[in-house]
Amino acid sequence: MRIDLHTHSRASDGTQSPEELVRAAVTVGLDVLAITDHDTSAGWAEAERTARELGLELVRGMEISTKHHGRGVHLLAYLPDPTYPPLLTELARVLDGRRSRVPVMLDRLRGMDIEITDEDVRRASGGTAATGRPHVADALVALGRVTDRSEAFDRYLGAGRPAHVDRYAAPLVDTIRLVREAGGVSVIAHPWGRSGRHWPGAAELAALKDEGLSGVEVDHQDHDTDSRRLLRSIARDLDLVVTGSSDHHGTGKIDHDLGVNTTSAADYERLLELAAAASARSGRQTPQVVRP
Ligand code: AMP
Ligand code: ZN
Ligand code: FE
Ligand code: FE
Repeated sequence: MRIDLHTHSRASDGTQSPEELVRAAVTVGLDVLAITDHDTSAGWAEAERTARELGLELVRGMEISTKHHGRGVHLLAYLPDPTYPPLLTELARVLDGRRSRVPVMLDRLRGMDIEITDEDVRRASGGTAATGRPHVADALVALGRVTDRSEAFDRYLGAGRPAHVDRYAAPLVDTIRLVREAGGVSVIAHPWGRSGRHWPGAAELAALKDEGLSGVEVDHQDHDTDSRRLLRSIARDLDLVVTGSSDHHGTGKIDHDLGVNTTSAADYERLLELAAAASARSGRQTPQVVRP
């Protein structure tokens, strides 16, 4: 079984349509795919149609931008009722923060004599509600100022770079609760990614488990071998589900090919059991796994 539980489509900042993403998953021989666009379920319907057509097992999820102790944390939410009003309200706030940040970033770029319009960004993003820095990066590529997204982050958009602008993110603990109330389960995405810091550590993860966290993504390209080993042992000690995923973004992120990291069948089954229990407790109409 090859199970990839974290991928993006053009419903956020991936470069493939949901249909293309599902087709690609079949082509590379995945058995299970989760679509987890940033802060939106907008890609779910198209992905579901294609998964049914091609006979691929599909998990519907999203990657929610949250903040904990002042630091950004990405929270993967699997199988929540996407119509649960308090969750929708929080997602709307995050999407609004994404939208309102764009003109500020463009002003910063203008200050460096780089002329990009709102319309350029809209064209790059294909009109998604989850506008992100990758779309501004694509506009910079289209203008010929950089050769790819990575260079755009390194020179302009990454933390500490001149066009970097902060945006609203949802409080982590509240979001874990909202996902649970919506009948879904939460997994922290690349907990020790990028910063390279071993935070959140064992004590913090134990506290988050008490708040309803179900798992942590251990096998991710942002984690080196030592981080994976240590994080896996902490997760096992705490009886948290361990996942592995590509965080695929189409051609938008190098080294994140579909299936580059995978989740074990046992951890996947456990995650689905927790989701079924959360769904039953919530009394919400939650999406089911799409099965061939
Ligand atoms: P934002 O959602 O606007 O905060 O942008 C962050 C997103 O940009 C992350 O979720 C990644 O998908 C993507 N990203 C971050 N760094 C890079 C990079 N160096 N190259 C390509 N994409 C990146
Ligand atoms: Zn992304
Ligand atoms: Fe992420
Ligand atoms: Fe992601």
